[in-house]
Parts: sequence; structure tokens; C-alpha cells
Amino acid sequence: MEQSFIMIKPDGVQRGLVGEVICRFEKKGFHLKGLKLMNVERNFAEKHYEELNTKPFFEKLIEYIISGPVVAMIWEGKNVVTTGRKIIGATNPSESAPGTIRGDFAVEMGRNVIHGSDSVQSAKKEIALWFPDGPVN
Ligand code: ATP
Ligand code: MG
Repeated sequence: MEQSFIMIKPDGVQRGLVGEVICRFEKKGFHLKGLKLMNVERNFAEKHYEELNTKPFFEKLIEYIISGPVVAMIWEGKNVVTTGRKIIGATNPSESAPGTIRGDFAVEMGRNVIHGSDSVQSAKKEIALWFPDGPVN
């Protein structure tokens, strides 16, 4: 069954949105397969976002991700990668539709609450990076 890597970013954790995010994925019908609260080191954050390392906003993005604990999760279900991205909403919260997580809870691109894998292939890569010992240990 398809899986996606979903991460609640430091602003989402600090603002108490963990329950809200989990609630939305659960109510949709997806299954939680792994979850942990983590402090991420710089090298690890750089690895997670390595395909963006030439972008002008890369340094700010890394500072943001290491600024506090994040919640790393594996969610499973039919089309969870694509549907998960729809639940999350557009990257820029000014363009995310109301009813999406970013549309309802964010205003700034640099504090957009949540990450979701953008393809089945990147989901596999991200799950291997974040859950190297498997989903439950
Ligand atoms: P994520 O990978 O975090 O789920 P995304 O897939 O919607 O987000 P990406 O293009 O992968 O978008 O960018 C990763 C993150 O980098 C974005 O969520 C956002 O926080 C930040 N970002 C992306 N583009 C910009 C930009 N033009 N200016 C500032 N920050 C940006
Ligand atoms: Mg992305």
C-alpha cells in the first residue's frame, strides 16, 4: 500500500497544531504507520531538502526546520501522496485554498506548518531517511 512521509514543522508543533493535522489525515481515512517527535540537526535537514540546496531560500529553510522539534510521520492509504498534498495545500499559504491545512493555518511561505512528500519515489526516500529502523521501534 502507498505511503507518504508527512512532517509537522516547528511552527506547527509550537502552535499546537499536531492534533489538528493528525485528525485531518485520520478522518480522511489514512492510517498512521509511524510517528516521532524529533529535534533535527543541520546536516539532517540539509539531506531532507537536498534537491533545494541551490535555491536562494535554502539557508532560511534549514534554519526554520532546525528551530524546534518536528513531528515525523508515515501515513498509508490509496493515493496518499497526491491526496496528502491536497490536504496540505499549496506551498505559498497566500495561494492555499481555505479548507487545506496551509490555507486554514498559515500566512507565510517560510512558516507553512507541514511537509508532505511530492511523489511516491520521494516518499520512499524520505521514509528511509527519517525512519531508518523501520516505522515502529
Ligand atoms: P515541503 O517540501 O516543505 O512540503 P513544498 O513541497 O510545498 O513544501 P518545496 O518547493 O519542496 O515546496 O519547498 C520546500 C519549502 O521551502 C516550502 O515548504 C517553503 O517553506 C520553502 N520555500 C519554497 N519556495 C520558497 C520561496 N520561493 N521562498 C521562500 N521559501 C520557499
Ligand atoms: Mg517539497
